[in-house]
Amino acid sequence: MQEKTEIVKLQSAGNLRITMDDYFSRLRIADETGSKKVAWCTSVGPAELLYSMGFEVYFPENHGAMLGASKMADKYIPTAVAHGFSSDICSYLTSDIGAFLQNETPLQKSGFKSVPKPDILVYNTNQCREVGDWFMYYARHFGVPALEINTPLCINSLTTSIITSVAAQFQEIIPELEKVSTQKFDIDKFRETIALSHDGCVLWRHVLETAKHLPSPITFFDAAIHMGPIVVMRGTQHAVDYYKVLLAELQERIKNGVSAVPKERLRLYWDGMPLWYKLSSNAKMFSSLDTCVVASTYCNSWIFDDLDSADPFMSSALAYCKLFIVRADEEKEKVLGRLLEEFSIDGIIYHESKTCPRNSNNRYGLQNRLQSATKIPFLEIHGDLNDSRCYSEEQSIIAIETFIQQLLSKK
Ligand code: SF4
Repeated sequence: MQEKTEIVKLQSAGNLRITMDDYFSRLRIADETGSKKVAWCTSVGPAELLYSMGFEVYFPENHGAMLGASKMADKYIPTAVAHGFSSDICSYLTSDIGAFLQNETPLQKSGFKSVPKPDILVYNTNQCREVGDWFMYYARHFGVPALEINTPLCINSLTTSIITSVAAQFQEIIPELEKVSTQKFDIDKFRETIALSHDGCVLWRHVLETAKHLPSPITFFDAAIHMGPIVVMRGTQHAVDYYKVLLAELQERIKNGVSAVPKERLRLYWDGMPLWYKLSSNAKMFSSLDTCVVASTYCNSWIFDDLDSADPFMSSALAYCKLFIVRADEEKEKVLGRLLEEFSIDGIIYHESKTCPRNSNNRYGLQNRLQSATKIPFLEIHGDLNDSRCYSEEQSIIAIETFIQQLLSKK
C-alpha cells in the first residue's frame, strides 16, 4: 500500500544514464579520433539513413533540451540575440547557438571540449522552418554541407504525391551522404536500421501505453526524461535494449499496484512542449495535488511504427509525414480525441510555448472545438520550452490548482 504523496522514482533511471553516457562516449570518440564521421540531424529527421551509413549522429535539439533542463538557457539566449537572432524565435535554437558562441556545453562534464564537430548536417522541415536556419548557421560556420528534406506543413490528407515526393528526397540525399561517409549506402543495412527503429518505436509506444492503466505507473515528466534513447538512438539496438528494460519495470509496477503518483485522483493530458527548467518541480507539484499527467502530444511524437523494412523509403516518408506536428488541425483533433478517451483523461493543459508556435496547438481554436466535441475541460498556461523569462510560475500554479479543484469537484 502506497501512503506517501511524493513521486515514485523509476529504477530504470540508472540504466538510462548508462545508455545515454555510452551514446555520448561514442560521439566523443568519433569527434576526437575521426574513427567515424559525425552527422547532425533534427530530432524527427532521417536518423535511420544516417545510422545505416555508419555515421555517429548528434541532435542539436537534444542539446537544447539539456540546456533547458540544466537551467542554463537564460545565460545563453542573450548572446544569440546579440548576434542577430530574435528572442521570439525557437529558444532551443537561441540557447544552443548562444552556448556555442560562449564555447560552453553541458557535454564538457562528459569530457567533450565542445559539441562534436559536424561532417555534414541533415534536417527535415516536417517540424518547423526554424531547423533550416539553425542548421545553416552551423553549416556556414564549419564549412560543411547541409542537406534538406523539405516536407509540407499542415498536411490534412496524406496523399500519395506527398509521400512519393518525400521518399524521393530521402533517396536524393544519399549521393551527398556518400561523399562524406566512409560507407557506401547499402539497402540491406538500411532495412536493418529501419527494422530496429520500428521495434524501438513499438516498445516506446508500449511504454507510453502503460499509462492507460488506472493508476498510471508513469507520468509525462518521467516520459520526457526517458524519451532520450528514442530521440537520439532510434534505429539502433541500444534503444531497443533500453526500452525492454523500462517496459518490464512499468509492467512490474502495474502487477504490484505501484503508481507513479501515489494517490492518483485525476488524470491530465499535456499538450505542447515541456517547461524544461520546471520539469522536476512540476512533477512534484502535480504529485502533491494527487494528479497524474498521463499522456502528452510531445512524448507521443516519437512513435514511428509505420516504418517497414520491406519498403524502407516509402515507409520512412509515411512515418515522418504522419507525425502530429506536420498535420492540419482537423487531423490533430482526431488524434487528440482518441488519446483523451484511451487514457481516461479528466482535463487538458495546453502549454502555449512563446517561441515554438508549431508545438502550441491552442492558437487557432482547436482547444474550444475539442472541448465542444469531448466535454473535457482545459486550461491554457503561457510559458516557453527553454526561456524561463516567458513563464510566470506563481500565476500558473494558481491557475493549475484552481483547475484541479474544479475537476475534483465534478468527480
Ligand atoms: S519544433 Fe519548436 S522547439 Fe522544435 S526546433 Fe522547431 S521551433 Fe524549435
